[in-house]
Amino acid sequence: QAVPTAGTERSGERVLDVVIIGSGPAGYTAAIYTARANLRPVVFEGAVTSGGALMTTTEVENFPGFPEGIQGPELMGNLRAQAERFGAELIPDDVTEVDLTANPKVVRVGEETYLTRSVIVATGSAYKKLGIEHEDRLLGRGVSACATCDGFFFRDHDIVVVGGGDSAMEEATFLTRFAKSVTIVHRRDKLRASVIMQERAFADPKIRFRWNSEVAEVLGDDKLTGVRLRDTVTGETDEIPVTGLFVAIGHTPRTELVADQLELDKEGYVKVAHPTTATNIPGVFACGDVVDHTYRQAITAAGTGCSAALDAERYIAGSE
Ligand code: FAD
Repeated sequence: QAVPTAGTERSGERVLDVVIIGSGPAGYTAAIYTARANLRPVVFEGAVTSGGALMTTTEVENFPGFPEGIQGPELMGNLRAQAERFGAELIPDDVTEVDLTANPKVVRVGEETYLTRSVIVATGSAYKKLGIEHEDRLLGRGVSACATCDGFFFRDHDIVVVGGGDSAMEEATFLTRFAKSVTIVHRRDKLRASVIMQERAFADPKIRFRWNSEVAEVLGDDKLTGVRLRDTVTGETDEIPVTGLFVAIGHTPRTELVADQLELDKEGYVKVAHPTTATNIPGVFACGDVVDHTYRQAITAAGTGCSAALDAERYIAGSE
């Protein structure tokens, strides 16, 4: 049966049970569960980054069930195929507008309109920029936010990685495969990263640390030639000649689509009634990294994706 499209009247058209926005581990897991519950979910995967954040990584060693590890894109391909096998409809487009308080709820994708009884928001999060002059101009010319995507181009280069969390350690360790040296620049005198990631970085002979430091300026005309570092304690600056700068200082939840309708916490993540995935609007659920500033792992995203599916299922059953 056709899904309502542009220009159709809402009355008399099929109203979907569930629309899932996002195609990372959270979205695909919600799709697997809702599809197996016969709710025929429609999943909007995103136009550019379908498959989510793990599409930008290589080895995933901590997703249970893969004792030898698995490549990120392969894992996401598996989740996608599993959702499709049970009848989820997968659409590689961005949702551009939603009306979550309408009844039924309205989801727009450009000119097309979809009506649905419930919505699962699983839009993940995006990387944070340093916010300094020339950062954008030199993006792709020495400045990067994705070691996995760009590491290969930095064979025998001297590189700076900014950040003190797990992703900074992961990026730095990964980059030592290619780089001559990797300097981790961190604003404080100790790392936020988990102990195992810290130990791996400390043990790597190619990695050195610049504590209590921040990047004050990126240098170079057409290509990055160095960075000016500022000591966060003394304010003194110095230049180090590097041809790679990887920004790994965290993420911003992707909530633009829902920010004016869903309650957000003070850091901008969607607020849910833990341990459920219920938002402030009945029938709207949120899961994965868009609600999570604590764990931000593929398995926790998949876990809350499962919870959102079960919550949506119960909501629909309760409203029948
Ligand atoms: P995401 O994976 O970010 O997916 C969200 C999706 O929603 C995206 O595809 C996006 O395009 C889509 N979307 C957003 N807005 C819209 C819209 N309007 N319409 C349609 N679609 C939309 N975790 C681990 O457990 N192990 C690891 O080894 C690991 N390595 C990592 C390495 C890197 C480099 C990175 C960046 C992350 C890594 N993570 C790892 C973290 C893990 O990838 C995330 O925690 C997880 O992907 C979050 O899943 P998610 O489904 O919430 O969001």
